[in-house]
This record gives sequence, C-alpha cells and structure tokens, in this order.
Amino acid sequence: MTDIKPPMEPFRIKMVEPLHATSRRERETLLKQSGFNVFGIPAEKVTIDLLTDSGTSAMSDDQWAGLMTGDESYAGARNFFHLEEAVRSIFGFSHVIPTHQGRAAERVLFGSIVKKGDSVPSNIHFDTTRANIEVLEARAEDLAAAAAYDPDAELPFKGDMDLAKLKKFIDRKGAGKVPLVMLTVTNNSGGGQPVSLKNIKETSEVCAHYGIPFFLDACRFAENAWFIKKREKAYAKKSVLEIAQEMFSYADGATMSGKKDALVNIGGFVTLDDDALAERIKNNLIISEGFPTYGGLAGRDLEAMARGLKEVLDEDYLEHRTAQVAYLGGLVAKAGVPVFKPFGGHAVYLLADRFLPHIRRAQYPGWALTVALYREYGIRAVEIGGVMFGQKTGKGKAEVFPELELVRLAIPRRVYTASHLRYVADAIIDLHMNRDKVRGLRIVRESPFLRHFTARLEEL
Ligand SMILES: *Cc1c(COP(=O)(O)O)cnc(C)c1O
Repeated sequence: MTDIKPPMEPFRIKMVEPLHATSRRERETLLKQSGFNVFGIPAEKVTIDLLTDSGTSAMSDDQWAGLMTGDESYAGARNFFHLEEAVRSIFGFSHVIPTHQGRAAERVLFGSIVKKGDSVPSNIHFDTTRANIEVLEARAEDLAAAAAYDPDAELPFKGDMDLAKLKKFIDRKGAGKVPLVMLTVTNNSGGGQPVSLKNIKETSEVCAHYGIPFFLDACRFAENAWFIKKREKAYAKKSVLEIAQEMFSYADGATMSGKKDALVNIGGFVTLDDDALAERIKNNLIISEGFPTYGGLAGRDLEAMARGLKEVLDEDYLEHRTAQVAYLGGLVAKAGVPVFKPFGGHAVYLLADRFLPHIRRAQYPGWALTVALYREYGIRAVEIGGVMFGQKTGKGKAEVFPELELVRLAIPRRVYTASHLRYVADAIIDLHMNRDKVRGLRIVRESPFLRHFTARLEEL
C-alpha cells in the first residue's frame, strides 16, 4: 500500500515567493486568449505550476552564493573548470561541452553524427530528442519493453530497453544506418520510469557488438540512480554516486539538461570520450551556442550547474523527491483516480483516456484535462498524448495516436511543500467526481514540429 503520510521537507525556507490567486472568470478569459493552450497562460496567472520540472527548481543557498563567483571571461572561465570537474567526477567522460539547455546538447550531438535516412533508437525519445532527429530527416525509433506502455504493470524498471527489439531493429536497418543508440534515464515520456543497471549494461553490450556508440539522455540520472539503489538488489548498499558512475561507465557519452538533475534554471551539456566527435560537436557549438568553455551560458550559470550536480546526489534530497511524487500519486490513486503505476521519479501521470472516457482520442482527452485543471483550480499540467505525439501519416489520412494518453503533473524540485501537493490532490479528486462536464477539443492551428507548444484549439 502507498504510504500517504506527507513527506517532511529536508530543507527549511529562507526566501519566499507569493502564489497568485485568480478568479475562475479570469482563467476562462485567459484560456480563450491562449487558444486553450496552457503554454500560453502567463505564469503569474497560475496558482500551482506543474507544467514541468525543467528549469523550475529552487536553487540552494550554496548555488546562489556560487552565482556571485561567476567569472565572465569569454574563454576559459574558472567556472567552466568547476563544471568540467563535477561532470567528470560523476559521468567520467573526458570532454565536457556546455550548452544552454538539453535540446541544444541534442542538436550539436545529432548534427555531428546523424545523417538523412539514419535511425536512432531509444527506449522512448523525449519530444525535443525526437524533433532534433526528425529535423535531420532521420527516424527516432522507440524500442521500450512492452510493459512501458502498460500503466497497470507494477514493475520496478519500466524504462528498460527491449533488447530483442533493439537487435532486430539494428539487423533490419543495418548497423551503418544507426549512428548511435540513446537511452533515456529516467524515461520521461514513459511515465518517468527508471532503467535498471542491468538493462543499461546489456544495451551497452548490444551496441558494442554492432560497433554503435551508446549515449544516455541523462536528464534525470540521479533519480534513476536512486531507483536502482531502492529496487535493484545488488545496489542497495552502494551510494547513489557510485551507481551513477557505473551507469555512465557503460556508455560512450551523454546529453544532459541541467534544468532537471543539475538543479538549475538554465544549462546543459554533452559529455563524451571520442576526440574526433567532440571536435565536430565543438565546431557545431560555436555556430549557435558559443565558445566551447561557455556554450551559451554565463560563467555564473556554469557555477550553479557544477554545484547542483553534486547536491542532486544527496540521498535525503532524493528520498524526499521521490516521496513527494508517491505522496501526490498515492492520494489521488486512493480516491480512484486512474494513474500510471508505479510512480516514477519526477511526476504523477494521470491516465486521461480513462479519466475522461466520454472523450474520444481524436478530441484529445489529455488536453481537455489540462484545460479543466487550469480553469477550475488554477493548476497547470502538461498533456503527453495525442496533441504532443499524434502523427498524421499523410494528406487527408487519419491521425495516429501514441499508445498512452497522459497528463503529467511534474513536480518542480524543492519548490512546493506537502500542503501544496495536498491542494493539487484535492483538486484532481474533485475534478474526477465532476468529469462528465469536461469537453473535448479540436486543433485550429498547429506548427509542423513540437506543435503542442503553440497549437491553438477550440472546445467542442
Ligand atoms: C527536458 C528533457 C530534454 C530537453 O532538455 P531541455 O533543457 O528542455 O532542452 C531532453 N530529454 C529529456 C528526457 C528531458 O526530460
């Protein structure tokens, strides 16, 4: 049974920021203005913002102090060397190339290694990862084990790659058409589920067999390492740092959004050993991100990221972080709200198609749920379903929807207390009891890539 005691925050608060109350009428107007897209709502008009855990962390006093030590030299700032040291000590790769955020790391990596017609497998690609591959006219292939798509399978490592599928896929495409294999830890688009060390090692062995580089999408490496410690027997007595080091020891490199497990508001990097590839990435980086020792960031940002990478491995922090997710998830599940199980590292995922069974997939039940959560309670969540991942296979053809129709309630790191989460749980339970009133939507305007950010919709 889920423990639904509120988890005690392992920090005290020394700076506060007011929450904003809005009226239902104001929210209704804002929804109309934004094209029923919560990405278009001004943040000050949101009471509890669970849109994302990306870049929304509260920094520690030590990180804020670090900002003041920013060395804003153009080349070779001391903070770069601090970051390099922090990354090397955890990830273990020789090249550390900062970028302004994770997708920039993806872009410079893929732009240096992926060609038109190639395929890049992963367990499940995150949306920006997929977009950065597709924009090069290559294919992003999701090869997670079947359990990843089963919201009821209470398995410890639902982020695992399906190794049989991976081998078959590489055999079919030919290793020459697969420039790299990725693995997302934890698997954000698949419910924030962890990948086992066993699976990381075995994926690495498959890649080595075919001579294909293996990269981790490491955004939530610390949360993944924590779950390995808790769920994979052989690792119960290892520190989270040792587990993270072992995870990376099987890879050839990693992309990272510092906005997740580096506890910063902006930043990212790509790290790897291959000298020739690192050279190409740096050349790519200079075109859009900047000189290789700052990569689109200020010296102070590099310092905050270096410090955050060490803080995130604190086991009291990780214990509380995952307990917060389990607390919110446990409260709503206990009241009969359909949720993705087990609870992952950074978010609770509602099963929108079960929550709103009267709304067809073509009318975007997940999206409808995000609209209702904002309209009724001022809570902002994100749809990870038909609008984010639906694909039209050709002109006039019907839309193909992803397996899962989810609404993600991402919990920003160190930002909300247990009573905030209690408010969210009560709101969701209330909405579930009044679910019949929620209406589906249709898209009236969209862009070809990452359409969920800017799409405009109307209610049916
Ligand atoms: C957030 C995220 C990214 C992209 O990082 P940004 O900093 O948002 O550009 C890539 N992969 C995963 C798994 C992520 O969660």
